[in-house]
Amino acid sequence: MTFELTILGCSSAIPVKGRFLTSQILNIREGFFLIDCGEGTQYRMLDYKIPKSKIENIFISHLHGDHIYGLPGLISSYNLNNRVKPLSIFGPIGLVPFLENALEYSYNHLGFDLNIITVDHNKYSVVFEDDNVKISAFPLKHRIPTVGYKFEEKSRLKNIKPEKISEYNLDYNQIRSAKYGNDVVLKSGEILKNSEVTLPPKHLRSYAYCSDTVYSESYIQYIKNVDLLYHESTYMSNMQEKAKLRGHSTTIDAANIAKKANAGKLILGHYSSRYHDLDPLLQEARSIFKNTELGLDGQNYNIELIENE
Ligand SMILES: [Zn+2]
Ligand SMILES: [Zn+2]
Repeated sequence: MTFELTILGCSSAIPVKGRFLTSQILNIREGFFLIDCGEGTQYRMLDYKIPKSKIENIFISHLHGDHIYGLPGLISSYNLNNRVKPLSIFGPIGLVPFLENALEYSYNHLGFDLNIITVDHNKYSVVFEDDNVKISAFPLKHRIPTVGYKFEEKSRLKNIKPEKISEYNLDYNQIRSAKYGNDVVLKSGEILKNSEVTLPPKHLRSYAYCSDTVYSESYIQYIKNVDLLYHESTYMSNMQEKAKLRGHSTTIDAANIAKKANAGKLILGHYSSRYHDLDPLLQEARSIFKNTELGLDGQNYNIELIENE
């Protein structure tokens, strides 16, 4: 029951040695979701053995080049690899003409369906849902229309306490009904509460992606209590003025958001190329929010499945 984030690129604006531009892969129960697609994303997928063909949905935060210039190349490669599975790409206004023009003027004729879905950057909305996950977009505050994304694991069928099956001699239909959350009606007419025959639900895991954005408490409501929060931290706190001007956050901003959102863990990223040593950024964030880690190319961040008491 995997729930794992892999950073493909952690740099902002321009790549630096060892740090590619922004892109991430989230694996939820073997469903692979690509988040942003900076230049070089395909190379990082090769480096980190990401099963590229399994990606069916891509989520773009905004149209700055460091988040989307990898898209035309990736789409072109899928076409050359004879992809037939449809591909959906979600992102704010402008994504449709950007991709249509890139494909048209590079004479790409796709052999698969490409669905480009424009996400409203002014309000919260659920943009994708299947049996395993619900994905929502919410407004961030950057220089151009930008959204963050939240990925929430969905509940599975309940597990039955094995001893209750023999104790009450439950048949197939009674077990099935209980798995869906119903109370059990015994042959005697007696009703057993669902909670008596089923195990407590598992903790449902969640991940939120916030890049790029200036510090704002407006989006905390959408990321409350997430297990894992990625928040951009382009600058250290002595660059606060520049961060504000450029629509970016500092390490302290990211840590304060994580604290106020009651996140389980904070992953930093989108570092300015001015920083060679990232440890001072980590230490600064940890002074506010202890459970912080650097997001680095090739690193995996697992959220374990926890059984509730
Ligand atoms: Zn950026
Ligand atoms: Zn940006």
